[in-house]
Amino acid sequence: MSGNQLMTIASPVIGTIFTILLLALWRYQRTYTYILYLAGGLTLNTLATGLQLFFIPGEPGSNTTTTAVFYLFGIALLIEGCLKRQNRSLNFSQTAIILTATLVAFCYYFYVDRSLSARIYILSFGCGALLAIGAYRLRPSRDSRLIDKIIFWIFLLLSIQLILRPPLTIRLGEVDANLKAFGDSLFWLAFRFSLIVGAVLIGLALLSAVVVDITSDLKRQTTTDALTGVYNRRGFDEKASAIIASGRFDPICLVICDIDHFKRINDDHGHPAGDLVIGKLSALLTAHVRQNDIVGRIGGEEFAVLLTERGPSDAMQFSERVRALFEASNADSLRGISRTTASFGIADHRPGETLQQLLSRADRQLYAAKKSGRNRVCFEDDKIDLASSA
Ligand code: GH3
Ligand code: MG
Ligand code: MG
Repeated sequence: MSGNQLMTIASPVIGTIFTILLLALWRYQRTYTYILYLAGGLTLNTLATGLQLFFIPGEPGSNTTTTAVFYLFGIALLIEGCLKRQNRSLNFSQTAIILTATLVAFCYYFYVDRSLSARIYILSFGCGALLAIGAYRLRPSRDSRLIDKIIFWIFLLLSIQLILRPPLTIRLGEVDANLKAFGDSLFWLAFRFSLIVGAVLIGLALLSAVVVDITSDLKRQTTTDALTGVYNRRGFDEKASAIIASGRFDPICLVICDIDHFKRINDDHGHPAGDLVIGKLSALLTAHVRQNDIVGRIGGEEFAVLLTERGPSDAMQFSERVRALFEASNADSLRGISRTTASFGIADHRPGETLQQLLSRADRQLYAAKKSGRNRVCFEDDKIDLASSA
């Protein structure tokens, strides 16, 4: 096999390998339907390069139109897959206009006014325009993950090279005058080389994106509580310790709350009703925290909340509001459940204190709240003890 033939076969082979790897990952994580768009896009592009490089079908009209359709729709599918990964989508009419305009102009320069160089320009610009739109829609923010930044740059660079390559490597009309020399032209060499580089870059980036998604999903599952969606004990400990260690926030308060006589709720109304009550308290806590605060379910019917930039009196206010709303919830959303109350213990973070020390001080206050009648909020400093009446 000559070097020339090797170069011809390389990009379809690379495309096929990455498509198979993507589909293997999809079998492992079928909820990620965006992988199917990516695999579909890679397949169409791989087919396009294969058909074009091996000149199948042999009739020039059907060959060029088929490959043009496969390239354009393949790229559109790849971009749609990357957007679907972020729960977004291509603008349908904008994409349809680019696809139609490119294909109509492409066919015009085959069936009406035959010009290979014009078709090269049109297809390159059409694909370049789609990739430019993809890059624009996928433009990363400062907080974006590295893989999202890499995908953006690959799309942008591929788009630039698609738009610049024809004017830099061929002159309009040149290849039409001497079609035979086209096979040896700089354009054709640069084109095949860019197909290989493009296939490797896109394949690697997409594969890495899927792997990153799967691993971060697994990581999230190990730190999230399945019933309520807040952090579980492990996630709370990790996050809260990191926040305390960062020293970014001062003051910090910790609230622990525990549903009162929860055993009775389970016994009287059944376990599913108990789960509803746990979900209600979790929703109330989550609704009243701010952006950097953390909520975790650290026991069966026990939650911890790390409040950042809030001192004891703010923590009191927060707890008192949630306590009152939770008590009222058996009159609305939890109608029929006789008594839904919770007790709260608060501790404010002291310099150098670990999360465990803070948790145990808050826990002592929770115990005090339970002992003094439940359905109340306790803070260790008696002077600011705003315990509410049961
Ligand atoms: P106290 O007022 O002193 O907190 O009394 P309590 O009954 O709430 O506390 P206790 O620790 O005796 O009982 C907690 C109960 O919570 C026991 C357990 O069966 C129940 N529980 C733990 N996890 C879940 C859960 O995920 N769902 C439901 N429905 N119940 C749970
Ligand atoms: Mg309890
Ligand atoms: Mg408990």
